Amino acid sequence: MDHFLYRDGQLMAEDVAIAQIAAEVGTPFYVYSSATLLRHFKLFDEALAWTDHLVCFAMKSLSNQAVLTLLGDAGAGMDVVSGGEYRRARAAGISGDRIVFSGIGKTREEMRIALEGGIRQFNVESEPEMEALSDVAVGLGVQAPITVRVNPDVDAKTHAKISTGKKEDKFGIPISRAREVYAMAAALPGLKVIGIDVHIGSQLTELEPFRLAYRKVAELTEQLRADGHEITRLDLGGGLGIPYARDNSAPPLPTDYGAMVQEEVGHLGCEIEIEPGRLISGNAGLLVAGVIYVKSGEGRKFLILDAAMNDLIRPAMYEAWHDIIPVVEPAPGHDFTPYDIVGPVCESGDTFAKERLMPTLSAGDLVGFRSAGAYGAVMSSEYNSRPLIPEVLVKGDQFAVIRRRPTFDEMINRDTIPEWL
Ligand SMILES: *Cc1c(COP(=O)(O)O)cnc(C)c1O
Repeated sequence: MDHFLYRDGQLMAEDVAIAQIAAEVGTPFYVYSSATLLRHFKLFDEALAWTDHLVCFAMKSLSNQAVLTLLGDAGAGMDVVSGGEYRRARAAGISGDRIVFSGIGKTREEMRIALEGGIRQFNVESEPEMEALSDVAVGLGVQAPITVRVNPDVDAKTHAKISTGKKEDKFGIPISRAREVYAMAAALPGLKVIGIDVHIGSQLTELEPFRLAYRKVAELTEQLRADGHEITRLDLGGGLGIPYARDNSAPPLPTDYGAMVQEEVGHLGCEIEIEPGRLISGNAGLLVAGVIYVKSGEGRKFLILDAAMNDLIRPAMYEAWHDIIPVVEPAPGHDFTPYDIVGPVCESGDTFAKERLMPTLSAGDLVGFRSAGAYGAVMSSEYNSRPLIPEVLVKGDQFAVIRRRPTFDEMINRDTIPEWL
């Protein structure tokens, strides 16, 4: 559920007309609904109300400072995957004890920043990383709280590029070697083992792969406890999927997910952490674009938009589907036209949809890409020297630009020409 609905023939973001934002900000732009973001966060928070828990928003899905502040104020922690994200979270007022540091390639410098600034835990992913982290912590005279990310070797049944929990994926340590690795961690002076971490992938549309993974984590918890480790926290990762197409069968809800978690690991008495990204931010965002031209090709019509693959790369990168809807609600009984919906970038991959049946549109019309809040703005680039597009946040009848469009001078002046040229 989200807050992008038609009212009086106009697509709204909560109580603000998209057309009004477009008139003030110019297309293309991203717009986020604070009510949707909060609603999704709260669904997870309530789904885990049966135990001590922290919902850590995977901010790599959407990392604007205003969004982090909104969710942080509601009680969310943050899952960060880089020193840059750590800094963003801290700058948004999230205290270190609500920040979890994930990722397979943390540098010593990133470890130092997090240890000095405060951190809830590091989710470590390899022996060499454990050694480096212990070293850095000892150097600072502290102990780093850690979980080890285990790879449970389950098939997440999602797109290959976002599956992370099979043994051939680069993430975590094989669960079969976990006891050995925990023994090593316990022997390192700079580490304090507190729990286990698992994250098997993104855009999962069934609970079963989670269930299999969590069952393995529960067994491991008992083994590790028998080995003498204090396992008090389980980080169960993110990955719950969202419906991208309206006619799709809907993925499980956070409530069902929370109940399944309780069934599989509830008896262990651990504090539970989860790291949802997409399910909180995905349907909370809309990418709004204008039609530049309608071009007739051989046997097909192209809708050429002012948004492109550099603004939203998911269709090009993951063959992702986004529902694309007109900003003016089509009248009942209107015509449909099949369009190839494309951007202006000089690549055939800059195609958002092929032969998509749409209400007939013309130049100047506006369209919205639904479910564009996650892995949208954060993955954008300036390819083709196209400025990063603005981000707008709506709350009720208010809206604000939360990242403005850079000027062309700003873009050009970031480069320097060597004196010797
Ligand atoms: C990407 C990622 C997440 C979030 O995944 P979503 O599918 O957006 O929920 C959580 N944890 C880790 C470690 C990740 O890499």
